[in-house]
Amino acid sequence: MFEKIVIANRGEIALRILRACRELGIKTVAVYSEADRDLKHVRLADEAVCIGPAASAHSYLNIPAIISAAEVTDAQAIHPGYGFLSENADFSEKVSQSGFVFIGPKPETIRMMGDKISAKKAMQAAGIPCVPGNGDPLGDDDETNLKMAREIGFPVIIKAAGGGGGRGMRTVHTEAALISSINLTKGEAGTAFGNSTVYMEKFLEDPRHIEFQVLADSHGNAIHLGERDCSMQRRHQKVVEEAPAPGITDEQRKQMGERCALACREIGYLGAGTFEFLYEKGQFFFIEMNTRVQVEHPVTEMITGFDIVKEQLRIAAGLPLSVTQDQITFTGHAIECRLNAEDPKNFMPSPGTIDQFHMPGGPGIRCETHIYNGYKVPPYYDSMIGKLIAHGEDRASAIARMKTALSEMVIDGIKTNIPLQQSIMADSAFADGGQNIHYLEKKLGIH
Ligand code: ADP
Repeated sequence: MFEKIVIANRGEIALRILRACRELGIKTVAVYSEADRDLKHVRLADEAVCIGPAASAHSYLNIPAIISAAEVTDAQAIHPGYGFLSENADFSEKVSQSGFVFIGPKPETIRMMGDKISAKKAMQAAGIPCVPGNGDPLGDDDETNLKMAREIGFPVIIKAAGGGGGRGMRTVHTEAALISSINLTKGEAGTAFGNSTVYMEKFLEDPRHIEFQVLADSHGNAIHLGERDCSMQRRHQKVVEEAPAPGITDEQRKQMGERCALACREIGYLGAGTFEFLYEKGQFFFIEMNTRVQVEHPVTEMITGFDIVKEQLRIAAGLPLSVTQDQITFTGHAIECRLNAEDPKNFMPSPGTIDQFHMPGGPGIRCETHIYNGYKVPPYYDSMIGKLIAHGEDRASAIARMKTALSEMVIDGIKTNIPLQQSIMADSAFADGGQNIHYLEKKLGIH
């Protein structure tokens, strides 16, 4: 196992990684921006190195500064967390070339999954069900493109190979709009991502978002930890996540989970990863693979009793998976509410000082946050300040526990989305389970 690692992230995930390291006896190096001196994990880490000014481009995205921090502290590995450089193949490559272990997949895997076309091709080859449409780059021949759209059937979606963060996509409902939409998306993709390649697939109108968690080691073993439902979204951002996904049968879980694990073995995947699917009318359609730990990993941990971050560290150190597939069992139901420093009505970020903070507790409650009394939420980063997770024997009891926990929680001094989360937990359609990805925006009156 490593003796010392660098945590190349901030906020709750940096603290989560620090805690896993502590349990495994690994020393930690926190790297932080000038705006983040008072982060909880910076104070708790064995060593801390300032890597630049507040702006992420000059600190958390500053590859040479992060690698230098590993050099000066004599660390062996770098954990990228999520966001920032976690899915940057060049970073992972530079980390390895500098003699450190990148805690995540190989650069070529990250690169393959970062391009939507190569990811879709690899998944089709590995037997993962994909959205209808062959995934080939669209050429300039209008007739061929029109023929393809007719075969797939309208509506179709034009997607940029290099797109990300919900950008670089255009839905087309009619034949008349097809050609101009392809040209517009190509133009935008060229400007935004430096790659004007686009492809076409079926547009699914009312899908749910269901994803599978996988873990693969360097000895050819791969397992799945079941699925999560992340359909409660606003602007393609997840707001509430849960595991298991309502209505998914043991048989479906086993079948899809095993296919994902098999695909990992086939592509030589390493570490923790997530296969994201749109799920409609009983069928799964692959949309993308995330090659890192996800924000919502705790719901899986709560129902499996398995520590995903500790396993990431073990895998990166070259150890075999600590469990086999048969040892993974699922108990009860877990729900996660993301806590954001934002106005619950207009979603404007609400940075500032936290005057009062009381963490909820009780059976089945887990609170992942870096905030504390007097902590100042900076305006420079993502507004997520933590996550509240409730586990219960079934979905209804998880919701009941979440309601109690939300009502106990006090965060004063800034605005938070707790009222929004309370309204979701009190929503009767949410209580029924299985709503699609448009449900939350409809409830909020955003169409
Ligand atoms: P990104 O990398 O930008 O997040 P994804 O491929 O994961 O892109 O898609 C983001 C979101 O766009 C999905 O969660 C879904 O809401 C929507 N989307 C993508 N592909 C389709 C599709 N074929 N049909 C319907 N919605 C889609």
